[in-house]
Amino acid sequence: MNKILVSACLMGHAVRYDGRAKPLAHPAIEQWRQEGRLVTICPEMSAGMPVPRPPAEIEPGNTGEDVLSGHAGVFEITGGHVTHEFLQAAENAVALARDTGCRYALLIDGSPSCGSGFVYDGSFSGNRKTGSGVTAAALRRAGVEVFSHGDIERLIERLAAADGG
Ligand code: SF4
Repeated sequence: MNKILVSACLMGHAVRYDGRAKPLAHPAIEQWRQEGRLVTICPEMSAGMPVPRPPAEIEPGNTGEDVLSGHAGVFEITGGHVTHEFLQAAENAVALARDTGCRYALLIDGSPSCGSGFVYDGSFSGNRKTGSGVTAAALRRAGVEVFSHGDIERLIERLAAADGG
């Protein structure tokens, strides 16, 4: 069975920087849960980051790919340098995907870790930048197909094709 790595906040866990969840209400989530397909992780918490925590963004002009390549860092709004934690978070997610056989991931968009379509531009002003967060970029590098929460319908189609259904 094809398994799916999923952002913990999408599954209703209150693990976001602001201490809240962002549950995704979709019948496919409940079906996948019952089928035992879902593997839940909050990459940032897995790297030891607390809840709540200051919001963090990737250095202006860069994306998760640049962080993985060592060309950019991740900083909290308070100035804290959290690149190491974000790289550890990505490594943990890749390891969990590998160990549990997840070939797909469903991640919340916009996060500097889990974003897969956009991230914020590093100015903490709500401006978006096309690109991936650090964990999403690392998962893609590892061969995992990453879908944003807004793309769940595309993942449903992808799974149906992969399952032969
Ligand atoms: S790291 Fe990912 S799972 Fe954790 S709170 Fe941020 S978006 Fe959600």
